[in-house]
Amino acid sequence: MADRDMAWFCAYTPVELIRAAGFRPVRRFGDPHGLEAADTYLHPALCPYVRACLAQALDQAPPHHAMFVNCCDGMRRLHDAWKALFPESFAFLMDLPRRTDERGREALGREFARLLGALEEFAGRRVTPDDLLRACREERELQLAYRRTVEGLWGAARVAAAQAAQEDRAPAVEAADHVSTGVPVLLSGNLLNPRGLLSILERAGARVVWADLCNGDRPFTAEAPVTGADRPRILRELAARYLERHPCARMADGERRYRLLVERARECGALGVIYASLKFCDSYLYDFPRLRERLRREEIPVLRLESDYADGHAGQLLTRVEAFLEMIAG
Ligand code: SF4
Repeated sequence: MADRDMAWFCAYTPVELIRAAGFRPVRRFGDPHGLEAADTYLHPALCPYVRACLAQALDQAPPHHAMFVNCCDGMRRLHDAWKALFPESFAFLMDLPRRTDERGREALGREFARLLGALEEFAGRRVTPDDLLRACREERELQLAYRRTVEGLWGAARVAAAQAAQEDRAPAVEAADHVSTGVPVLLSGNLLNPRGLLSILERAGARVVWADLCNGDRPFTAEAPVTGADRPRILRELAARYLERHPCARMADGERRYRLLVERARECGALGVIYASLKFCDSYLYDFPRLRERLRREEIPVLRLESDYADGHAGQLLTRVEAFLEMIAG
């Protein structure tokens, strides 16, 4: 890990603040096949993404600067283990409100200010409003570049491009890598391995036209530019921008989330929804019954799958997905 790299894990991480303070934000996706390496420090019945990220860090040379969001128990445990294992590195845990209204925006703006203060202290320099606005513009450019890159790309290739953008590297899209035919479906969930479950869906004949994932299209859905004249206003606008995105199931505004999913499914011509989430994620387990009811009322068929992040159990999943696709394609 380079000296100025700052690892991050949750899609609500304000990467603009990390950039403005002179660091390079790099989202970590861990090693989906090596999570056992984290078992000494994290319980095996914990989010496999979290365990994969710790396993990857254990294998990397210091420093291990990292920024955490207090969005679930798994992330809190990752932060605790990280602080204990890498005490020489920067580690900050930011609170994330569940509500996305005015009070939510104010609370998130305050958290951004707290984070920025900690980054300034660690970097030993003051961040000016110009630094912040420049970082916001750069991040917006990257987001727009992602949208241009994924035009006409589906499924695993689209999610791989989203991951590359979050890892701060140029997406390498191989033409052979992407699927342009198949039964159109919308995929919704937390975070999935593009080389695991997504490739299984494609082998079964699905064309994922929208990836409502936190390592897929969701982080690229905010529109508002940040133009504030002073630091408090910039941070408030930035907070509003993060809360304007298509919400993750961990947020309180489920109704907005369901409405946006239904609209998106119709817009993309999806014939059904595949709802897939990583094991042990309570937010997505609680979310599913309500979403299923909403989709039932809209007459949109849905299939629920679970992922262990590595997704070695392909045969069993293939059969279920093939049967679902056959049913919705009529
Ligand atoms: S699923 Fe939601 S809360 Fe969890 S890491 Fe992704 S954006 Fe953050």
